[in-house]
Amino acid sequence: NSDLILYVNLELVNKKSDRRYIVEEMLGQGTFGQVAKCWDAETNSYVAVKVIKNQPAFYQQAIMEVSLLSMLNDKFDPDDQHHIVRMLDFFPWKNHLCITFEMLGHNLYELLKKNNLRGLQLQFVRTFSRQILDALIVMKGAGIIHCDLKPENILITPKVNSAAGVKVIDFGSACMEGKTIYSYIQSRYYRSPEVLLGYPARYTTAIDMWSFGCIVAELYIGLPLFPGASEYDVLSRMIEMVGGQPPDDLLREAKNTRKFFKHAGSIYPGNEAHDGLRSSYRILTEDEVEARDSKKPKIGKWYFPRGRLDRLIFSYPWKNLNEGNLPEAEKEDCLALVDFLRGLVEFDPNK
Ligand code: ATP
Ligand code: MG
Ligand code: MG
Repeated sequence: NSDLILYVNLELVNKKSDRRYIVEEMLGQGTFGQVAKCWDAETNSYVAVKVIKNQPAFYQQAIMEVSLLSMLNDKFDPDDQHHIVRMLDFFPWKNHLCITFEMLGHNLYELLKKNNLRGLQLQFVRTFSRQILDALIVMKGAGIIHCDLKPENILITPKVNSAAGVKVIDFGSACMEGKTIYSYIQSRYYRSPEVLLGYPARYTTAIDMWSFGCIVAELYIGLPLFPGASEYDVLSRMIEMVGGQPPDDLLREAKNTRKFFKHAGSIYPGNEAHDGLRSSYRILTEDEVEARDSKKPKIGKWYFPRGRLDRLIFSYPWKNLNEGNLPEAEKEDCLALVDFLRGLVEFDPNK
């Protein structure tokens, strides 16, 4: 990806005055480094500075983050209208690459937690979803796959005229479509079927749409849609909740299929597959998986949602204890939400 790296104007590096950024507090940390709230003494404003760990692999990946984000910001969203975080600057400091961003608010996981994991009002789900989708459309246009879309990587924007808003952050795992390198990507709950199954060189921006679907559902119900304790657990929850399974041609070509599925050689009797087609694969039973790797999945401390997607949406949040109690208008909203989600958590990436 040398063409991308050239997009970064390396001449800018090292021209910064000393002691420009004054660390005020730590905002968060992730796999790649730490993020600090800093006072920028040159512009007299707060910024978020991501200090990348000083190891070559992280440095390389951070250069990718800088490249892709500056391309997105400058070429695809010059007027800052598409809910993608603005990168302000980057510089090396004591062997750490540092990237400065506009200062944003809490991430969506923190917001859900503050709400006792009970989900947001539909009006916020709608507004946030529309804005994330707007960002995803721009990213698709640029041929960029985010590869780590999750509530922690979507931040509330400071209130402008008290309108709620969000922005997508953390392009630290992002890559260009057609130049995909890694096969172990996305956070487990938000990992798409094609990544789980190992369709390495072939994944597209469709993997972000899957994660997006998981996020929309989580914003409404307050808990992750597929909180699997293992990859098998995630996949079996998907099949149980969405119905159907990944299409046979994907299963045939993916390299991890046999970790999760049994192949009959011919059609499995009674196995209703994707789109009502019959499949020659069936997902392993829990016993078969346990017999294989005797490692018991950890049970989390929450009550995790299970069952069909439509049931889940209609019986959540806790306020709608059963479908019958829903006012007509809310029923329609729920139907629309289920319909929208079904289009997103779609097993066939081509769709
Ligand atoms: P990951 O483990 O998800 O790859 P990471 O190391 O790549 O994380 P980021 O996701 O970029 O790091 O940032 C970590 C956290 O820091 C975010 O989840 C968020 O809470 C906080 N943060 C990051 N950027 C900003 C910002 N611009 N404004 C405010 N907080 C931020
Ligand atoms: Mg992150
Ligand atoms: Mg990251």
